[in-house]
Amino acid sequence: MAESIFDGALSRMNDASKYTTVKQSTLDRLAHAERELTVSFPVRMDSGELKTFTGYRVLHSSIRGPGKGGIRFHPDSSLDEVRALAFWMAFKCAVVNIPLGGAKGGVICNPKELSKTELEKISREYVRAIYDVMGPDKDIPAPDVYTTPTVMAWMEDEFSKIARGNYPATITGKPVSLGGSLGRSDATGTGGFYTAAEAIKALGKDMKTATVAVQGFGNAGYHFARLMHSAGATIVAVSDSKGGIYSKEGLDPDKILNAKKQAGSVTAFNNATMMTNEELLELDVDILAPAALEDVITTANANKINAKIIIELANGPVSPDADRIIDEKGILVVPDILANAGGVTVSYFEWVQNRTGERWTLEKVQKRLKEIMVAEFKELHMLSEEKKISMRLAAYVLGLKRIAEAFEAKTG
Ligand code: NAD
Repeated sequence: MAESIFDGALSRMNDASKYTTVKQSTLDRLAHAERELTVSFPVRMDSGELKTFTGYRVLHSSIRGPGKGGIRFHPDSSLDEVRALAFWMAFKCAVVNIPLGGAKGGVICNPKELSKTELEKISREYVRAIYDVMGPDKDIPAPDVYTTPTVMAWMEDEFSKIARGNYPATITGKPVSLGGSLGRSDATGTGGFYTAAEAIKALGKDMKTATVAVQGFGNAGYHFARLMHSAGATIVAVSDSKGGIYSKEGLDPDKILNAKKQAGSVTAFNNATMMTNEELLELDVDILAPAALEDVITTANANKINAKIIIELANGPVSPDADRIIDEKGILVVPDILANAGGVTVSYFEWVQNRTGERWTLEKVQKRLKEIMVAEFKELHMLSEEKKISMRLAAYVLGLKRIAEAFEAKTG
């Protein structure tokens, strides 16, 4: 039988445990989610039909704080996937050292086939179904695949109505007008940029002469490219689902964004050479940022990767079996659980602001995000040098140590 996604996630923890003195009883605890909730609820569709939907909310661990993690609306959502994503959230929060645990949610549905009214009903019914396990001190959801600030606004409204109060801190990724944080919309790309700047320094290179290729010109990829370009790096290639474009002289991300907005794809940009997504991944660049899908670097192409640094903005872009090849080639990989943790970090800032009734300026958000990303990059890089392990393994070692320390402090 094929290994489950959750088993794959656990194998990273078990590899990391060899570099720690974490007790077996702690590993046993972390091999299980603290709570797994499966719910189903009927929704009256626009056609008049009553349709039943299934949803999940998994709390992997609340050892370091209340659960934190997005809710995805996807036809392929499954308990195994949600369980694995909740586990990764626990590690991601530990790696950036924010006082939150790991959780995740999902609803099996296809938002592309739903009207706005149907989407709102599903969002509200889902909250009614999981209400008892949600809350600012229990488990704080956020957006994920196909869920938006508007979906978060409906969910927060439903929660507050049931609770007969006002509970903005119960969910993050809300519109700014409802207590969302400034800087949340570009937080993932921004956090990735801070780690890229540190990785460049760690290799003794210079941002101003660095070349960059970005796969996936969406929220994470665009903001990352924009900031790298402003800092003086040369963006030689970008892509989306329709293909890629290349220019040795460099591309201006804002001009590409305009072309994408007008014609639906970066490939509509005229002053560049067309390139496939596969070719983009194999470019001889200083920095490759996969910012689209998981498993784009596998044993089939790992040998052909020529970048010096990989910034994993997407979740899981390098398959576990390709890790070894990438390591042997001496490529510095800033792993997803650090590289794309800017999003959850600013979600944490949103929760803090909602709880204290404060509104932070954009400058304050960015300053604190930078402090965290830079400090944790340095910590991971030091650990990887000291133990002679990859940054990815170092991230799991650091995450595991922090979670285990909290667990063992509680359990003696
Ligand atoms: P998005 O939907 O805004 O952008 C995705 C981009 O990838 C689009 O430009 C799309 O055209 C492109 N794409 C899709 N299929 C592709 C393919 N086969 N080849 C090349 N490009 C393809 O999504 P996003 O929010 O930027 O997220 C991108 C990745 O980053 C995902 O893996 C997501 O899980 C991860 N991530 C995002 C955030 C966040 O806050 N946005 C946080 C953590 C992780």
